[in-house]
Amino acid sequence: MGMPCGPWRGVIEAYRSLLPVTNRTPVVTLLEGNTPLLEAPALSRTLTGGRVRLLLKHEGLNPTGSFKDRGMTVAISRALEAGVRAVICASTGNTAASAAAYAARAGLLCVVVLPHGMIALGKLGQALIHGARVVPIQGNFDAALRLVREVVADRPVALVNSINPARIEGQKTAAFEICDALGDAPHYHAIPVGNAGNITAYWRGYRTYHAEGCTTRCPRMLGFQAAGAAPIVEGHVVPAPETVATAIRIGNPASWQGAVAARDESGGRIEKVTDEEILVAYRLLAEREGVFCEPASAASVAGVAQLARAGYFDTAPPEATVVCTLTGHGLKDPQTAVAALEPPAPVPAELDAVLVAIGF
Ligand SMILES: *Cc1c(COP(=O)(O)O)cnc(C)c1O
Repeated sequence: MGMPCGPWRGVIEAYRSLLPVTNRTPVVTLLEGNTPLLEAPALSRTLTGGRVRLLLKHEGLNPTGSFKDRGMTVAISRALEAGVRAVICASTGNTAASAAAYAARAGLLCVVVLPHGMIALGKLGQALIHGARVVPIQGNFDAALRLVREVVADRPVALVNSINPARIEGQKTAAFEICDALGDAPHYHAIPVGNAGNITAYWRGYRTYHAEGCTTRCPRMLGFQAAGAAPIVEGHVVPAPETVATAIRIGNPASWQGAVAARDESGGRIEKVTDEEILVAYRLLAEREGVFCEPASAASVAGVAQLARAGYFDTAPPEATVVCTLTGHGLKDPQTAVAALEPPAPVPAELDAVLVAIGF
């Protein structure tokens, strides 16, 4: 397809012919998408010995700080077109932040149902400041999703979780952008898996671009769940999922089948990474590449590191490209950064003390 010329107008205008919108759809956009695809030479050397070319799709640079905006622009535009007055979602945080912002822009009421005490501070702040009606529940994400499905069953409220097909459609545009930037699809695509909507969306995007003749191949899809929340890897629902990566703390993914299809049709893998592996990757990204993502996002890089250690890329084609999606921005969850690295104690406001503290 190739990127359109002129100023960026958001993912709907960029890929209109491949999205479920018509000329009558009122486009609600915050100019999401067009995010950087960054080379990661230091990580490529450190994690794969330079065996593959590692790139980072930095989705934290979307308007509300996560990839959710790509799907939300389509879901909210369609909700407005349908004439509803309110939208609702269950969320581990980023869907709530995105729904709240796009609903505010569209003039729609937004309701978000959240697992109490499990939402990163920045995401809660976003939902509140955009004027969403925030309902914390004494239960986890899976319970929240069950509840909102019941709420919308017989009420004129649009559900904007990724079970809304418009969300998946919008999110596939990230795959289009990657192919446009590289001139072809990458050989491998690594991605964190929570509710599994995004891996489903990328796979659909890659297949669509291939069918349109824009690429010569599709990547192997590599999905990574947190070890304490790995239902697809374990093959059963996890009733009490636990992980530092709150965005993927999900025990019963809505798009389970989509993730399995992406893995099997692409010849890829879905594996689990421990919280320790996630936090190592989280710090490496920040310290070695200057990229601050949230913990869940680092699962993609942790997974690539794990596969590289196991020799998975030994059979990769020469100059193979591996794209890791970094799903959300690190500023969403500053508490995890501070907890990972004890901020230093204050010293007296005197030159000697400061020089000692610096280590000069
Ligand atoms: C939503 C989210 C995920 C998980 O995406 P799914 O589509 O639910 O698999 C991962 N990371 C971040 C930062 C998210 O906001």
